[in-house]
Amino acid sequence: MTAPIAKLSFWGVRGSTPTVDPATWRYGGNTPCLELTAPDGTQFILDCGTGLRMLGSRWRTPNGGGNPETHIFVTHYHWDHIQGIPFFAPLYAENNEFHFYSFRSKFLGRDSLKQVFEAQMALPYFPVDMSAMNAKRKFKEVEGGDTFTIRENKITARWLNHPQGCLGFRIETPAGTVVYATDNEPGDPKLDESLRELAAGADILINDAQFTPEQLKTTRKGWGHSSWQESVRLAREVGAKTLVLFHHDPDSTDRMVDSILRQAREEFDSVFAASEGMVITVGATGDNVQAHMPGPRTSLRREAQFRAKVTGVTEGGKEFQEETVVRDISLQGALISLQNMPQLQSELQVTMQTPGEDGLQSSMRLKGYVVRIDAGAEKGQIAVGVVFTD
Ligand SMILES: [Zn+2]
Ligand SMILES: [Zn+2]
Repeated sequence: MTAPIAKLSFWGVRGSTPTVDPATWRYGGNTPCLELTAPDGTQFILDCGTGLRMLGSRWRTPNGGGNPETHIFVTHYHWDHIQGIPFFAPLYAENNEFHFYSFRSKFLGRDSLKQVFEAQMALPYFPVDMSAMNAKRKFKEVEGGDTFTIRENKITARWLNHPQGCLGFRIETPAGTVVYATDNEPGDPKLDESLRELAAGADILINDAQFTPEQLKTTRKGWGHSSWQESVRLAREVGAKTLVLFHHDPDSTDRMVDSILRQAREEFDSVFAASEGMVITVGATGDNVQAHMPGPRTSLRREAQFRAKVTGVTEGGKEFQEETVVRDISLQGALISLQNMPQLQSELQVTMQTPGEDGLQSSMRLKGYVVRIDAGAEKGQIAVGVVFTD
């Protein structure tokens, strides 16, 4: 029997508002939306930020179409968690069926999420009428403390410390446990304790890391968010295996998120910064994190033969240096084959030999950020995808 596997995909990782600033494209600008496919084929969607549109455009019915079941958890009603709903194409197809879960807001009363749908699609905010949404929709109210099962998966919801309320979700699948705790601020002893119970022993803990520890103490105190430092503290205290820093600030450039990740890695072994397109396989043996480069950005590709020297840090934290040939290059990045396995989301120095004038060799130095690792493509060689950064 093969071990059960769950697949966690990140479709939107940005907090507060979408960004299209080129300085934020590497981690991505869409607001929160995650997809978890459990070993039994059940599909979970966590939040309906603008990332939901992309999920919809790549839509495949879950479980091979045999017994499609999609359960959508909405943590709260701030714009960045609901804005993708009207743009989720599968909602307009009558063969689809969705189960929505969210809490009863004291500002909206009964059927809070249903009201959000209606308000978002009311004239003059949106041109298409609700009646065009042909998919079957079922709404279920949940609140902090609730526990229920969906097929072979156990779900737990807990309140988090956030203005107007927010729910954190724990999904226990036979492949492992994923805890989604976005939009929460530490400092309320009761809710801090509740979050620790929710996150206890998680295989993957996704936590809010919007602000720097300094901001959290000063200018952003009370805004309802956390930091990498608090996330690391939480992950340590609950014995989480892998931590994913989430809900990046719209003002955080890729370089700033890089620096946040670097600091977190100094204090916790397995930590990633959520990035759009990243896929985590839960329950697989060996390397359990893979990330994909966003497709449309790799359009301008050329085959090449550049001799290159590469220095970096291995997964085990050892520095390495080796010579190789770059065979595939685009203006954004390259696919490099290496014998060493660098750490995902780490930086490599790539020095390529280029034929200079008069046949003299010259070199081109580039900083590459590892976005993809493909072991086993070629014997003894690891294909490493990098994006060039300045
Ligand atoms: Zn948010
Ligand atoms: Zn919020």
